[in-house]
Amino acid sequence: MKVTLLGTGTSYPDPNRVQSGILVEADSESILLDIGSGTLHRLTQLGKDLDAISSVFISHFHIDHCSDFLTLCQSIWLSGTRRVLDLYGTSFVREWLDSLHRAFPYLSEKVNVRPLVLHENETVQLEKLQISNTTTVHGKTDTRALRVESEGKIFVYSSDTAPCRELNVLAKKADVLVHECNWLDGEHPEGVHTTPSELARIVDEVAPGKLILTHLSPEVVRNKEEVLGIIGSSHETKVIMAEDLMSFEV
Ligand SMILES: [Zn+2]
Ligand SMILES: [Zn+2]
Repeated sequence: MKVTLLGTGTSYPDPNRVQSGILVEADSESILLDIGSGTLHRLTQLGKDLDAISSVFISHFHIDHCSDFLTLCQSIWLSGTRRVLDLYGTSFVREWLDSLHRAFPYLSEKVNVRPLVLHENETVQLEKLQISNTTTVHGKTDTRALRVESEGKIFVYSSDTAPCRELNVLAKKADVLVHECNWLDGEHPEGVHTTPSELARIVDEVAPGKLILTHLSPEVVRNKEEVLGIIGSSHETKVIMAEDLMSFEV
């Protein structure tokens, strides 16, 4: 499968990074994992046919992970196709979609979105892609980490999370783990995001082939060498910092 990191930033404005979004492609299947602000622009930069996107998985309903969904709907409407777009999310997904339809009633007439609840630990099969999930620890918001498996290869996306046993189990021996690194080490609210020192411990336990840091706040990016030094000093896993439009085969 081919993975493209569309957006690797956070809610803090960053001229070089848009918000969370990942494109996963395998054969004729193209899916999105999150669709934060700016990710539609990145897709158009790639020249990606938006009509080819069959499903959108939203890890949680924070604005930086879902705000371009409306833009995608508008683009599908303008393209004139009347196909079904599957929208996977936590149990809030139907209520969320209903609220969008109430706010923008013309969309419900023009775009056929099918809301699908992503049950905890459920596996969804889409052609050659198997997508499973687990809950993370992210404040009070129901949030899912996503694991995509295809032809024996494993890609895991942490979404937003503090260190969390369930995620470590989901990501065990993944070929590629894309994990958030929202904060530098220091004092932070409990149970929301992950720091470099915490990531060093996660990598020791999970042992992914490669760790790619994402959900990078400007201060984490400014301290790139220090961050990579903290994480990379204690194990063999290759650790890199993501950039928007970074693409790789898994
Ligand atoms: Zn969040
Ligand atoms: Zn976020």
